[in-house]
Amino acid sequence: MAGEDQPPPPIGADAVSQAPQKDGGSPGGRPLLSVRELSVRFRMSGGREIAAVSDVSFDLAPGECLALVGESGCGKSVLASALLGLLPRNAYVSGRALLSGPGARDALDLLAADEATLARTVRGRRVGLVPQSPAAHLTPVRTVRSQLAETVRELTGRKRGELAEATLAAAGRAAFPADHLDRYPHQLSGGLAQRAATALALVGDAPLLLADEPTTGLDRDLVERTVDELRAHTEDGCGLLIITHDLAAAERIADRVAVMYAGRVAELTAAADFFGSPGPRHPYARGLLDALPERAFAPIPGMPPELGDLPEGCAFAPRCARASDACATVPALTGGVACHHPVTATDTAQESGHDIATAPDTDGTPGAAGPYGTAGGDDADGTRQPEGSRA
Ligand code: SF4
Repeated sequence: MAGEDQPPPPIGADAVSQAPQKDGGSPGGRPLLSVRELSVRFRMSGGREIAAVSDVSFDLAPGECLALVGESGCGKSVLASALLGLLPRNAYVSGRALLSGPGARDALDLLAADEATLARTVRGRRVGLVPQSPAAHLTPVRTVRSQLAETVRELTGRKRGELAEATLAAAGRAAFPADHLDRYPHQLSGGLAQRAATALALVGDAPLLLADEPTTGLDRDLVERTVDELRAHTEDGCGLLIITHDLAAAERIADRVAVMYAGRVAELTAAADFFGSPGPRHPYARGLLDALPERAFAPIPGMPPELGDLPEGCAFAPRCARASDACATVPALTGGVACHHPVTATDTAQESGHDIATAPDTDGTPGAAGPYGTAGGDDADGTRQPEGSRA
């Protein structure tokens, strides 16, 4: 309930908020959004349960852009819907998502807020949503001007005499051309529909922008323009959580990257480290990058698991060349990576083809051979080497 939550611990107090930003520094001050152990379960007929999101934790600082990336069906959009209270009735949500306000008493747990609070004070006002399908988001039988004017009136309380000018200004903020305001959604190109939806999302001056796959269906030029425009809104302190499967778009604008797999955060790290050096440390995250045509163009073998039938332990194990017996337990997100045998800089240097060294466990003990991996040995310097790689 609003006003009853305590301010979250300072950023840096735990692993999920220790990842440095693009400039190498740590995000400072109070987070704008602090998500802890967010889980979503869908209860289906016949008693079947879908584990769509499991134990997701992250912080978002004012002025920061965090990109939530992963393949379709990994839980990204369910997470966004959970934050806005837009899940269907068979969804069961647990955890905490504290949205800070101007004062400590304005903090609001989005997961505990009731529908009236979310509708009256959150959607559009404290969290602006840039939707996945702008054309579907817009009302087809009304012009953009009419929809924008109504939103301006609702969210800003502008009177009739001020409305026309305020509507024009709202369109301008998202670079929506004034001479297209009297068009209907079906008369807009994909890029202009996206700008119209972005203009609607910006009207309330929400401190948090949540963009759910905002570049779906756009060509590359429009993708870049769209994400650049979204990023520009962080300049005045707005936090941007962008959910995307487009790694190039994430690389272009994100300060940090959270990679999701099978409903969990596999890696959470600075974008510069992720896309540059040392690169991703989680085998799945590394596989995602390696699958890009401009990189190794090597697809990850196998398919993601069904969220209603997840394997015991690490869900990536059936596809992972580094898996060992230790992977029969779910790895915690430690130091920004949820893996028992994360890729190390030494591994990166030694990688050749698919012959990947088994790294020490995250607790410092050597990784054991398992059903999917090969046993390695310790070198004199303590680094692990694959079997047969030593003279
Ligand atoms: S090494 Fe183990 S914990 Fe890490 S991704 Fe592979 S299977 Fe999962």
